[in-house]
Amino acid sequence: MDVFGLIGTPVEHSLSPPMHEAAYEQLGMDARYVTFEPPANAAATAIESAETLGVSGLNVTIPFKQDALDAVVPDPLAERIGAVNTVGFTGGTVRGYNTDAVGAVRALREHDVSLDGTAVVVGAGGAGRAVAFGLADEGMAVRIANRTVERAHELAEAVPDATGHGLDDLTALCRDADVLVNCTSVGMEKDVSPVPAEALHADLAVLDAVYSPLDTRLLQDARKMEATTVDGAWMLLYQGVEAFERWTGATAPVDAMNEALRTRL
Ligand code: NAP
Repeated sequence: MDVFGLIGTPVEHSLSPPMHEAAYEQLGMDARYVTFEPPANAAATAIESAETLGVSGLNVTIPFKQDALDAVVPDPLAERIGAVNTVGFTGGTVRGYNTDAVGAVRALREHDVSLDGTAVVVGAGGAGRAVAFGLADEGMAVRIANRTVERAHELAEAVPDATGHGLDDLTALCRDADVLVNCTSVGMEKDVSPVPAEALHADLAVLDAVYSPLDTRLLQDARKMEATTVDGAWMLLYQGVEAFERWTGATAPVDAMNEALRTRL
């Protein structure tokens, strides 16, 4: 039996186990996906132990994504983002990837969003970093707006063709933008949006990385303005699809994984 897993804290409500196990079931794989909560600062030990135990692949989530970078050979994208969310153990090397970037890019592409022009990324934390690099690598000009403006400037210096801003610039930035991605946690706890509703427009495609709730205030406001909307479960789905395909070399059964996710959201 192949064992895959997730390290993070907390992980008890993670949607990754049902999503990946739906894929194993669909493809008739003898595999399980299990969650682990290692102690703080134990990312490297946890990854080494997983390798020793013969685990086939690991996902990594908060608070271990940055520390995991030092415990793996990161691919160039994960290295630039500064965080690893997927670890593979094949071929005698422990390799690290960041599939959040691909998750956002694929979520947009699968909704026929064209990735040229200008993208506004709201947030400069882990998700913001991944999405900013992911969209820049697709050739988009990226405008990063963050509550702590210094973090936006710092990220913009690392991302090609990017500029950093405070949240007060959002209305002006959205006017000229083709894509908007919310990478803050705003909208999770309260029914609020990180972007003024009047900044949204019909020529904008809006992806909200927040997936709980699924239909956030931002997405509701965007729909009212007839913008294209993509919810955060699509990003979650495609980061998982990318991890599954890297680990197994098989084509992921996307519909089964999507159904497993959406029945739980
Ligand atoms: P993080 O590293 O902690 O970053 C949080 C970001 O939110 C920072 O930019 C922070 O700004 C901003 N923020 C927090 N509270 C705010 C507020 N009240 N007003 C304005 N900005 C605020 O977290 P993360 O890992 O990037 O995750 C961010 C969100 O993305 C979470 O909801 C997470 O669930 C979601 N996410 C989704 C996926 C997916 O696959 N769908 C993947 C990854 C993350 P400061 O820098 O000023 O603190």
